Amino acid sequence: MELLRGRQLWQWWLVVGGVVAAIYLALPSDNPWIWAVYNAFGLAAAAAVVVGVRRNRPRRAGPWYFFAGAMAMWAAGDIVYELQYFSWGWETFPAPADGPYLLAYPLFAIGAYRLIKGRISGRDRAGLLDAAIVSVSLSLLSWSFLMRPIAADESLGLLQRVVALAYPAGDLLLLVMVVRLVTTPGARTASYRLLIAAIGAQLVSDIGYAVVNMFTTYTDGLLDAGWIAMYLFWGAAALHPSMRALSEVAPDRAERFTTRRLALLTVASLLAPVVLIVQGLTGAASIDWSAIGLSSIALFLLVLARMAGLISRIQDQAAQLRALAHNDALTGVPNRRAWDLELSREMAKAVRSGEPVAVALLDLDHFKRFNDTFGHPAGDRLLKEAAAAWRDQLRTGDLLARYGGEEFGVLLVGQSLETGLAVLERMRAVTPHGQTFSAGLALWDGHEIPEQLVARADEALYEAKHGGRDRVEAAVPATMTSVR
Ligand code: GH3
Ligand code: MG
Ligand code: MG
Repeated sequence: MELLRGRQLWQWWLVVGGVVAAIYLALPSDNPWIWAVYNAFGLAAAAAVVVGVRRNRPRRAGPWYFFAGAMAMWAAGDIVYELQYFSWGWETFPAPADGPYLLAYPLFAIGAYRLIKGRISGRDRAGLLDAAIVSVSLSLLSWSFLMRPIAADESLGLLQRVVALAYPAGDLLLLVMVVRLVTTPGARTASYRLLIAAIGAQLVSDIGYAVVNMFTTYTDGLLDAGWIAMYLFWGAAALHPSMRALSEVAPDRAERFTTRRLALLTVASLLAPVVLIVQGLTGAASIDWSAIGLSSIALFLLVLARMAGLISRIQDQAAQLRALAHNDALTGVPNRRAWDLELSREMAKAVRSGEPVAVALLDLDHFKRFNDTFGHPAGDRLLKEAAAAWRDQLRTGDLLARYGGEEFGVLLVGQSLETGLAVLERMRAVTPHGQTFSAGLALWDGHEIPEQLVARADEALYEAKHGGRDRVEAAVPATMTSVR
C-alpha cells in the first residue's frame, strides 16, 4: 500500500505489464501455459480500458467501449487460435480464430471514427483532405506489396484469398484512422501519444507478420513484443487521466500548416510514381497500371481540392483584411485611409464625367464636455450612434468617413453646393442625444488637389465653430483661395 502511494494506476499498469512481458518473451514459446500469459495481456487490456473509462469518466465513453471490445476480440482470437493449434491440432486456413481477429478491426474503426468525430467542432475539410491524400497513397502501397500478391496467388481458394486480404485491409483501416487522428486538431496529451503508440506497435507487428508470412511461416515469438506493447499502451492510454481530453473538442487550435505536414503530404503524393518506378526497376511480372493510374488520379484531385480550399481561404482572409484596414473599428464607417483613397478616386472619375464633387468636414461641438460629463464610454456610444444616423441621410454613392477623433468627412458626388448644404442640415437634425456639430462644405473647382479641397472645407469648419457652433458654413470659392 505504501509503495502504491504517489504512483498512478497507469504507471503501475505499464511497469507490471512490462515485467510480465519481459518474462514472457524470455521463456520458450511452445508451451500452452506460457501462451496463456499472452492471452492474459489482451483480456487485461480490455479490462484496463473499462477501468480507465470508469475512473476518468470521459464525456463520451462510447469510443472506448468499442476499443475494449476490439481488444477483447483480439484476445478471444488468440484463445481460439491456441485451442485450435494446441488442443485440436488444426492448422487450417481460414480457421475459427480468424472470425474474432477480423471482427476487431471494424470495432476499432467505429471507436476511432467516433473519437475523431468528437474532437472536431464543425468542419475540418483541410484535415479530411490531408488524411485522404495519405490514405490513398497508403492504400496503393498496401495493395501493391501486401494485397496484390495474395489476390494473384493461384494456390489459394476464394475464401482463403478473401480472408487473407481482410487482414491487410483491416490494417489499412487502422492506419487510415491513425492518419485521421493525427491530422485532427486537438490536445496532444499523454493519453493521445500512448494511443498512437499502441496502434503503431500493432501495425508494426501486423505488417511484420504479413511480410514474414510471404516468405515463411511465422513461428518466432519476436513479433509478440509488438502486440504486447499494443495491449499495454492501449490500457495505459485509457488509464491515464488525460484520456478525458482525448475526446474533447479542440480549443480552436486553428490548423497550422507545419513543415511536418508538408513533408507528409509530399511523400504521400509522390508514392504512386515511386511505386511505378519500383515495379519497372524490379522487373515486376506485370506493371500494376490500373491501381497506380487510379490512385494517381485520386491524388491529383485531392491535392487540387486542397489547393482550391487554401485559395478560397486566402481570398476570404484578404477580404476580411481589406475590411479591417478600411473601416474604423468603433463606428464601422470607412477610416481616414479609405477616405483618402476614395476621395482621389472620385475626383479622378469626376474629371471624366464632369459631375460636381463636394466635401464637408464636420466636428461634434463640445465633445470633450460630453465625455467629461457622461464618461468616455458614453462618448464612444455617441460617436457610433451619430455615425449611423448621419450615414442614413446619405445616398449610396456618398461617403461618410471618420476623419479622426470626433471629426468626420462627407463626400458628396453629383450634388451642387445648395443640395450639399441641405444634406448637411438633414444630418444635423438627426444628431443623437441632443448633441450638435459644426461643419464646413467646399465644392471642388475641378483643379485643386484633394488636400486643397479638404483644407477649404476645414477653413469653413473653423468659421462655423467661431460663428457660434451648431451650424454649417460654405467654403469660399476655390479661385479666391488660389489667389491668396
Ligand atoms: P469643439 O466644439 O471646439 O470641437 O470642442 P470639442 O470638445 O469637441 O473639441 P476638442 O478637440 O477640444 O476635444 C475633442 C475630444 O474628443 C477630446 C477627445 O477626448 C475626444 N475624443 C476623440 N476621439 C474619441 C473617441 O474615440 N472616443 C471618445 N469617447 N472621445 C474621443
Ligand atoms: Mg469637437
Ligand atoms: Mg475636433
